[in-house]
Amino acid sequence: MRPAPTILHLDMDAFYASAEQAAKPSLRGKAVVVGGLGPRGVVATASYEARRLGVHSAMPTAQARRLAPNAAYLVPRFALYRTVSEKVMELLGRLSPLVEPLSLDEAFVDLEAGGTADDSASARATGEGLRAAIRAVTGLSGSVGLAGSKMLAKIASEEAKPDGLLVIEPGTERDLLAPMSVRILPGVGPATGDHLRRAGMTTVHDLAEAGEAELVRLVGKAHGHGLYRMALGLDDRPVVAERDAKSVSVEDTFDVDLHDRVRVRAEVERLAARCVERLRAADRSGRTVVLKVRRYDFSTLTRSETLRGPTDDPTVVREAAGRLLESVDTTGGVRLLGVGVTGLADYTQEDLFAQAADARELAQRTREEEHRAPTEGDEENTPAEPGPDDAEPLAARRWPAGHDVHHEEHGHGWVQGSGVGRVTVRFEEPWSAPGRVLTFRVDDPLLRPADPLPLVRDAADYSSWPASLPKSRSGADSAEGGESRP
Ligand SMILES: [Mg+2]
Repeated sequence: MRPAPTILHLDMDAFYASAEQAAKPSLRGKAVVVGGLGPRGVVATASYEARRLGVHSAMPTAQARRLAPNAAYLVPRFALYRTVSEKVMELLGRLSPLVEPLSLDEAFVDLEAGGTADDSASARATGEGLRAAIRAVTGLSGSVGLAGSKMLAKIASEEAKPDGLLVIEPGTERDLLAPMSVRILPGVGPATGDHLRRAGMTTVHDLAEAGEAELVRLVGKAHGHGLYRMALGLDDRPVVAERDAKSVSVEDTFDVDLHDRVRVRAEVERLAARCVERLRAADRSGRTVVLKVRRYDFSTLTRSETLRGPTDDPTVVREAAGRLLESVDTTGGVRLLGVGVTGLADYTQEDLFAQAADARELAQRTREEEHRAPTEGDEENTPAEPGPDDAEPLAARRWPAGHDVHHEEHGHGWVQGSGVGRVTVRFEEPWSAPGRVLTFRVDDPLLRPADPLPLVRDAADYSSWPASLPKSRSGADSAEGGESRP
C-alpha cells in the first residue's frame, strides 16, 4: 500500500452501449442492450436506461427482452469498440509506462511510475484531465478511481460511476470498506459469497472481525490469507504492463452448444492460432498451454500441459491444446472454449523462415475467422479477448441489428431490424439529428454494409496532452509563466 493515491483505475461507462448511443442519435436516452441475440445469447452491456429496468451484463438476452421489451437490441460491433479502446489506451500510455489493461474498456495505470502524480492533489488533477481527454477524443465518458492499491482503485471507480471520479485517501480504506458487501473484494464470486454468508459474514467488517484463522478454516489456506488481507485494505499487487503479463488467453462462448467433436476440435485449433497471434504481438513465448472448457451444464474444466521449453509456435500450441481436449468429455455439449499460454518468457527468434511461414498461416486463419459465426461479447465479466466482429448466426448475417449500412440515395444508416426479406434502416450519423426509418428488400442493390463512422467528427487536438511541466512550457503559453519567472 503506497502512501499516496497514485494508482488509477479507469472504467468506461457502459462501454458498448454508450458507444452505440454515441453512434446512433435516436438511441440516446433510451434503453439499449448490446449482446448475443441468438437463442443462447447473453447481454454484454446494457445502457443505464436498460439497467434501471433490471437488465445487466451476463444476463440471458431472452430474460432481458422480458424485462425491457422496448429496448434496442444490437449485435456488438467490436471493430468500433476496438478503435475507441485504442484511443483510450493511447491516452493512458501517455500517463505512465505501466498500464495494465483488463479489457477493452478498463485498465490500471501507475501514475507514480509515470511521474504524473505524487500526491492526492496531483492524482485528482491527472484523473480529471484524463476524463476530459477521453470525452474530447472519443465522445464517451469514463469513471476514474484513485487509491493507494489496485483493489481500492477499482472499488473507487465502481463507486464513482457513472461519469465520476473518486479518490480514496490512504488511511481511510478500512472505514470505507467496512460496511461494504464481501462481494466487492476481488476473487469473491457468488459461490464464495454464499459460503461466507452462511457463516454469518456479509460485510467486509465481518471478515476483518472474524480474523485470519477463521477465514483460513472457512475457505482454505491460500484464499483465506488473501481474503483477510483484502478485508484490511492491504493489497500490494503491482500494476503490470501487458508486455510483462504472465499469461495470454483467448476464449469464445457459443450461441448454440457444440456437440460435434470435429467442430469442437476445429474451434480449439482456431483459438490456439489466435492465442499465438496475441503472444507474438506481445513479443512473448510461453511454456504451459491451458485449455478451458465450459460444458452444457456450466461445469468448467481446465487442463494444462507444460512443454520442455517456451514456445510461440502455432503448431506446438495447437497440438498441445488438441491433446488436452482429448482428456475432456464433451458429449453433453460445449458452451465455451478457451486456450491460453502461461509461464511467459521474452520472445526469442529461432527460425526466421519457419516464422514467416507461420505468419502466412496465421494471416490466412485470421481471414477465415472474419467469416465465422457465433459468440457473445463479455465486456464487464472477463478480460478475455472478445469474439469476432460479427456475432450473428449465418442465416441473418447480412444485416445484423445495429450494424452500419450505406444506401446510395439515402446515405449512412444502421440496421434497425430485418426479417421476411426486408431490412429496416435508420438513416443517421453520430453528429446528425435522429434520423428517419426506411424499409428495403434485403437484396436491394443500392444498399450495402458499411464501416462504422468515428463517434467524434472534429475531435479536439489532444496530441500534446498531458501538458508538459511548467518549466518546459513554451513562452507563448500564458502571462502566468512570465509572473513565475525569477
Ligand atoms: Mg466498463
